Amino acid sequence: MFSYRHAFHAGNHADVLKHTVLIATIDHLLEKDAPLTVVDTHAGAGLYRLDGDYADTSGEAAQGILRLLAELKKPPAPASAKKTPVEEPAPLADALARYLEVIADFNPNGGAKVYPGSPFIVQHLLRDQDKLKLFELHPTDSRTLSANIAQLEAGRKIAVLLEDGFGSATKFLPPPSRRALVLCDPSYEVKSDYARVLDFAAESLKRFATGTYAVWYPIIPRPEAHDLPRRLKTMATKAGKSWLHATLTVKSSKIVTDPTGETRRPGLPASGMFLINPPHTLKAKLAAALPQLVTHLAQDRNATFSLDAGG
Ligand code: SAM
Repeated sequence: MFSYRHAFHAGNHADVLKHTVLIATIDHLLEKDAPLTVVDTHAGAGLYRLDGDYADTSGEAAQGILRLLAELKKPPAPASAKKTPVEEPAPLADALARYLEVIADFNPNGGAKVYPGSPFIVQHLLRDQDKLKLFELHPTDSRTLSANIAQLEAGRKIAVLLEDGFGSATKFLPPPSRRALVLCDPSYEVKSDYARVLDFAAESLKRFATGTYAVWYPIIPRPEAHDLPRRLKTMATKAGKSWLHATLTVKSSKIVTDPTGETRRPGLPASGMFLINPPHTLKAKLAAALPQLVTHLAQDRNATFSLDAGG
């Protein structure tokens, strides 16, 4: 059985990117009244405490949501003597403001002690007529997810399935309303996840060519990780579908050797979101948000972003 638990990573820079894109995408899809189905193929536990044991162990949120909140609280930097006394900070990009608004909804006293995973972010945004299908295969996380979701008393609107998201999620495609967003967010704990994402995307597109598909992936020194967006782009282009690819890098991926000669892996340096049939509004929203994420979450001079779209 796998050992990945999202609680160690909740609220890290990859979650900030993924959930900012997720919220901007859903906001757009909800502009139409027709029911929307959201399928989350790898749901996790749903809700996380950032002051809990798991989060304390890895501290990843400290360089993600917690850092973003702290940066935005800082007073504006003093400007050079000849210019205006205080440099006006750029207004917060709409997509980031929306992301922070959703996080704040889960933290009425401020801060981010509670971090909503994708299932809770999505259910928070969905309307009565919409549906949410959640796949989670880890028995403990699935139990936690079911218990968290049960508290919402959402009835048949939300289904939690202890099943393989890659193998089973296509059964919901196309949904009766023919409007769906599929989030595919595996842990990539095993190398075969990269190939399974591609098979899943190909099968999903075959069943439901007009759905919106969002795939998160880690950018790490591994050939499969670099091939994945290239292959998704080829798949979308061959199918005549539009696509969008956004990445956020917060630091170098180089392994560091400290003065004692010990080597240290840098942790996750970057990640990406690849969307097929993205909302037409998404590129402009991310063009404003990504540079601000780089400014606030950069850990070294290698921090950067990319944004590309086509079709
Ligand atoms: N989407 C979540 C979020 O944004 O809050 C995080 C998901 S986490 C990156 C990936 C999850 O997938 C883990 O909880 C893991 O247990 C689960 N998982 C791994 N393989 C799976 C599979 N084949 N089907 C469904 N879930 C799986």
